[in-house]
This record gives sequence, C-alpha cells and structure tokens, in this order.
Amino acid sequence: MKDYLNCVRCGILCQPGKRGDPKARPFKGASKGLCADCAVTQLFLSADFEALRIGILKNGIEVLKEPPIQRQFAKILRTGQSDLQSEEINWDRIIAQWDLPFPRGYKP
Ligand SMILES: [Zn+2]
Repeated sequence: MKDYLNCVRCGILCQPGKRGDPKARPFKGASKGLCADCAVTQLFLSADFEALRIGILKNGIEVLKEPPIQRQFAKILRTGQSDLQSEEINWDRIIAQWDLPFPRGYKP
C-alpha cells in the first residue's frame, strides 16, 4: 500500500490528496506530483500572481513571511474551496526552496 509519495520537485514525502473535490481550485488533491508547498510556489510563478512576483522582485522573497500576504492567500484558498488548507502551507519551506527548479511537465 502506498500511502506516501515523494514530491517530484523537492522530494519531501507527502500524502496524496484524498478529498479531490471537483469544485476545488486552485488546488486539487492529486494522486502524485507536487507537495503543497511546491504547488503553492508553482501557482505564485503563474501569470495570475504577477503582482505578487513583482513584489518579491522588489522587496525580496521574505515578503512571503508578511502576515497580510499569508492572510490574503488563505482567503483565496477559502473562496476557491481549495483542497489545500492554509494551515498546511509551510511558508519557510516555500522561501527556502523558491529557486529549486521544476521538473519537466510541472513548470509553472
Ligand atoms: Zn515539494
């Protein structure tokens, strides 16, 4: 029985999503792929989050530690009925692994 899988980007062991609410966005429980933190990073690198990226370029990656930014993202997750709960996000890991490359097929 495979309860845990390695994230394809950072290699951390994670539990594949089980809920898989079809209405969920931006995150759905997946049977394989990225861990929660890498999935958040992938989203931040996408076109939808250009304003945040510009903020990071201007002020540094540490802006992700700012409570207002984390609160705003938690709101995005709630309104999108995401499978991912904001408490599952490890912002320190996101910051530490920001420059880690994405494997083929998972590029933002
Ligand atoms: Zn990961």
